[in-house]
Amino acid sequence: MKTIKKKLNIVLLGPPGAGKGTQAQILIEKFKLKLISTGDFSRKVAQEKSPRGKLARESLASGKLVPNKIIDDYVEEEMKKVPLKKEVIFDGFPRDLPQAKFLENLMKKLKREFQVLYIELTPKEAIRRLSSRKICSKCNLVFKLEDLNNKNQCPKCKSELTKRFDDNSEIVRKRFKEYLSRTKPVINFFKTRSQLIKINGEQSISCVAKDILIKINN
Ligand code: AMP
Repeated sequence: MKTIKKKLNIVLLGPPGAGKGTQAQILIEKFKLKLISTGDFSRKVAQEKSPRGKLARESLASGKLVPNKIIDDYVEEEMKKVPLKKEVIFDGFPRDLPQAKFLENLMKKLKREFQVLYIELTPKEAIRRLSSRKICSKCNLVFKLEDLNNKNQCPKCKSELTKRFDDNSEIVRKRFKEYLSRTKPVINFFKTRSQLIKINGEQSISCVAKDILIKINN
């Protein structure tokens, strides 16, 4: 295998349903990256009986973003724990311009370079995928309903598969609205810094993964 010389700290951007989580898992297995998933974190915080738990629950239920302070603090804390030789992958972060600037400053402070992968997908295809997926309640892996042969068990860890409660059509509509108004500007932000690598997300999972490997290697 060709050696990958570039720094592999990676940011994954794209609409809900673009396959960011799935591609993150593939890259983690291949390169042993540390995952920082603000979606997984938000769902965990939403179970807390605390003021921030309440805020997270309300945000998730309305398809809105969790307040930045909660997310930024988590990202900073996690990043401080990672040894410099270990590289990281961000899934779901940054989601708006203040978060993008926060990440840029944090990475500068920590002397870490990073690349931004933007998985492009039409809203129509993204919504179709969200309505036909299930997620493992334990390891968070995502599966397409059509690949499961009516089984409700995670092929990897055998735990129960569930539908994400925010994959229902009403919350999906709101998540998209939030994506278009708050996350889309992040794409331009990194584009103007020549840091953006575009990936065609309309392809199969393995083709997207291959494309990513080629592009992060260039
Ligand atoms: P995801 O699993 O990435 O689709 O995220 C699910 C939900 O978690 C989002 O709809 C938000 O409510 C929340 N969330 C995830 N990442 C962020 C973030 N970077 N900033 C604010 N809220 C987030």
